[in-house]
Amino acid sequence: MISEFRNHPLTDFSKTENREKQQAAIEEVKGQLDTVYPLYIGGQDVETGDLFKSVNPCQKDQVIGTFHKAGQEQAEQAIQAALQTFETWRFVPAAERADYLFKAAAVMRRRQFELNAWMILETGKNWVEADADTAEAIDFLEFYGREMLRYSAEQPVTPVPGERNEMFYIPLGVGACIPPWNFPLAILTGMTSAAIVAGNAVVLKPSSDSPTIGYKLVEIMKEVGLPAGVLNYIPGSGAAIGDYIVTHPKIRFISFTGSKEVGLRINELTAKPQSGQIWIKRVVAEMGGKNAIVVDSETDVDQAVEGVAAAAFGFQGQKCSACSRAIVDASIYDEFLEKLIARSKKITVGLVEDQSTFMGAVINETAQETTLKYIDIGKQEGRLVLGGESGPDSGYYVQPTIIADIDSKARLAQEEVFAPVLAVIKARDFDHALEIASDTEFGLTGAVYSRNREKLDKAKEIFHVGNLYLNRKCTGALVGAHPFGGFNMSGTDSKAGGRDYLLLFMQAKSVSEKV
Ligand code: NAD
Repeated sequence: MISEFRNHPLTDFSKTENREKQQAAIEEVKGQLDTVYPLYIGGQDVETGDLFKSVNPCQKDQVIGTFHKAGQEQAEQAIQAALQTFETWRFVPAAERADYLFKAAAVMRRRQFELNAWMILETGKNWVEADADTAEAIDFLEFYGREMLRYSAEQPVTPVPGERNEMFYIPLGVGACIPPWNFPLAILTGMTSAAIVAGNAVVLKPSSDSPTIGYKLVEIMKEVGLPAGVLNYIPGSGAAIGDYIVTHPKIRFISFTGSKEVGLRINELTAKPQSGQIWIKRVVAEMGGKNAIVVDSETDVDQAVEGVAAAAFGFQGQKCSACSRAIVDASIYDEFLEKLIARSKKITVGLVEDQSTFMGAVINETAQETTLKYIDIGKQEGRLVLGGESGPDSGYYVQPTIIADIDSKARLAQEEVFAPVLAVIKARDFDHALEIASDTEFGLTGAVYSRNREKLDKAKEIFHVGNLYLNRKCTGALVGAHPFGGFNMSGTDSKAGGRDYLLLFMQAKSVSEKV
């Protein structure tokens, strides 16, 4: 009997025992740095000799792993291996498929501190953020396993005399999973396990900024005995093999999470049928955001400051859900800004392997350069009140940055920066704040701080985002509790971690028998 789904609890790092375990795991992982990792295709390790390195963004001379890079030849091999395996995997009973996910979740629970450590070192997540990422990956496995059991049960259809009718769900085929680096375990595990448990075979191309963590899922799936060819792992440059994979006529679906630019490109390319292609490809594309927190005049300013600081600067602002606009009622604007600056000045920036550090570096050199350029734009568009500079040269650091008095139409208010840069915008009143909040091409997350019930209800109706939070920060969605996905240019609103998600990887078949 499978118990009801519950979110995996976060580790309490105030306990000495947990701190010691995390510290020990970091040391252990440091002893395994710069291993050379192969591709994994059809159950075989594959080496190409064309290597790339993944480095610690907080300490750029520290190599985390060296990877054989897939080219088109390996992408083709992976697709062929998946196609072959799909012919058997699709007939494996749903309960058996779900069991692989439950077993993988158990392995992740056992290896939680180690997985956290890899994320701390490879992506610059602080301890708490890394721990939440692992917990979310565990949740996805447990949740989607149960969801598959639900979908494989008898589905209700209307009875018709003289007929025996049924409708059931079957998988789609071979799909490409293309995750980002920012939730390197959670998103990668979520999208991959959902596709697999639904009976599909998968080609997984991890981000080149977090391939080691992607490889950990491969290790775990090997450990639990997932049949060869169900999961094929091909790290490589998105630009070099991305088009090849997504336009391949045998690829049935693409599950992508990443930037708007790449998502739109995939959507466009896949819309055109290729020679030999006999279906309309399904595209799940979850993309960027320009998320706002609205701070009303009738609110506890300290609480709002806390929420904005955490959502803007947690994981260096590199969450799709991060707050990049604070829209503040004019009557409390100065008080809010003063308190936010004071609060944000307390943020520590540096090596996140030290538990006391809140913010690490941004993911890579390009991200650092782009962020500094946006800060320059922000200085012209508004008033720099905090940060604005890079950090020590040992990593790709950017200080927590606040730019006040930004116009709602300014670039800083419209374009995703994906870094610790917050635009503060003054609104005339609550209605004006809501108007500004929905006035971007995105629609991912948002939050409102207000004590006024009517205002909260109004926000619920008209703040146009996939995930709205009232009187709490706009980051930290929980699997099952807050199904996640955005509107407009934020993507296809797939609602990861929700009850509709697995449907994206299946098709329903209706059978009617005359009796
Ligand atoms: P990205 O678009 O640069 O890369 C995402 C993935 O796409 C990577 O694996 C990359 O290698 C691959 N890729 C790159 N070019 C490709 C191509 N031409 N064809 C196929 N694949 C290609 O994004 P990123 O920098 O990894 O992630 C950050 C972005 O992801 C931000 O915009 C963020 O808002 C978004 N994001 C969205 C969500 C969400 O749920 N909406 C969640 C996390 C991150």
